[in-house]
Amino acid sequence: MNQRNNHRLILFPLPFQGHINPMLQLGRILYARGFSITVLHTNFRAPDPSSHPHFAFRSIADGLDQSEASMSDIPGLISLLNARCASPFEECLQEMMSLQGGEEVPVACLISDSLFGFTCGVAERLKVRALMLRTSGAASLYVYTIYPVLKEKGYVPTHGSRSEEAVKEFPPLLVGDIPAIDSKEPEVMSRLLDDLIKAIKNSCGVILNTFEELEHPDLTSLREVLSVPFFPIGPSHKCCMTSSSSSLLAEDRSCISWLDEQPLKSVIYVSFGSLAAMSEAEILEIALGLAESEQPFLWVVRPGSVHNPEWLEKLPSRFLEALEGRGKIVKWAPQVEVLAHPAVGAFWTHNGWNSTVESISEGVPMLCMPCFADQGVNARYVSDVWRVGVHLNGGLERENIARAIKRVLVDREGEDIRQRALVLKEKAIVCLGQGGSSYQALDALVSHILSCE
Ligand code: UDP
Repeated sequence: MNQRNNHRLILFPLPFQGHINPMLQLGRILYARGFSITVLHTNFRAPDPSSHPHFAFRSIADGLDQSEASMSDIPGLISLLNARCASPFEECLQEMMSLQGGEEVPVACLISDSLFGFTCGVAERLKVRALMLRTSGAASLYVYTIYPVLKEKGYVPTHGSRSEEAVKEFPPLLVGDIPAIDSKEPEVMSRLLDDLIKAIKNSCGVILNTFEELEHPDLTSLREVLSVPFFPIGPSHKCCMTSSSSSLLAEDRSCISWLDEQPLKSVIYVSFGSLAAMSEAEILEIALGLAESEQPFLWVVRPGSVHNPEWLEKLPSRFLEALEGRGKIVKWAPQVEVLAHPAVGAFWTHNGWNSTVESISEGVPMLCMPCFADQGVNARYVSDVWRVGVHLNGGLERENIARAIKRVLVDREGEDIRQRALVLKEKAIVCLGQGGSSYQALDALVSHILSCE
């Protein structure tokens, strides 16, 4: 749609792949509804403007040096970004506001990542309405709202020996599913969570990449507890059909032609997202489990996700034989396209929220191996609430891996899981169609933004 509505939206994504993707998808959705889009971004992990020719881009000088930019302590890095971006962000927004009235399309609203807590204060000072994009699901956000209670009960900050204990206050969660405070400085993480909830409460509304049929009870709880409008418009990657990618790494498309050669629903796709890292021993066990499963596999091994870059050479010959045809390794895949490929039968995932939603929308059952943050909650919902996947029980051990892959992909005992995944996929499709829940939420979001004047 090329008809513009003379309203500009400023988007400010957190510079992580799992946050950039849903923000740029949202931009494409709202562009299609007539809004002009400006993306403010950090210099650190800047998106590629050439993939989004209809958007304007402006960079914020985050001032991160090389060692800061390679920090593995994610909460620490987010906290640093908040501190460093506050002034340059305010200056940039102020400048954009001062240009209004001339040639510039007037700013209707700011939509920032909810982990950029400072933006609400800036927006208030500059008299711009602020919406938040929360890039996780409703359930994990709700867990964060009851974090003080969970802390009081002693479930967090450490899981320890209580990992397998049920959380009475939040079935079917187990203590080990609760996002742990895994920062080097626990108070940093606590402050981030406090700021997140405060920012959401002070915002004009929250956009979520989920859908009512998937998370209705948790959306209802959030609406009650946080008293702001929620707009579950997902699965957002399905409503902006475009080939443009917001990947920060180059996608290896050779895996698509490899998938074309594989039998229908035979392949286990393995990827643990953009942040999770593995030890050499873990990677070797995954490789041996994949070999032992005797199923075709497509495995993403991201640069930097393994501590020893020479790990491939250390693999035994039977694994390398599997690579002669039955297996393929890439550094980064066009994941959405992979999951939609008819040869893919299951997804071994860390259950980042984007990966979880992408898998659900293609009806691909999951083998869950959550690593940190909201992933434990997402994985518990996959296995125990929606029942479209299984946890990798018994640890990262080759026999367990092979057994779990066969269960989710081919064995009779996984048939119900595969069926339920297809039913859930249908729900995801229906919600996006005219009159569906996400369609209506998007209409409501557009009206909400336009009523801001
Ligand atoms: N992704 C991709 N290619 C890959 C692996 C991941 O395009 O090889 C994308 C995936 O489709 C998803 C995002 O990267 O949109 C990862 O986000 P997620 O929330 O799943 O996990 P995170 O990286 O934040 O842990």
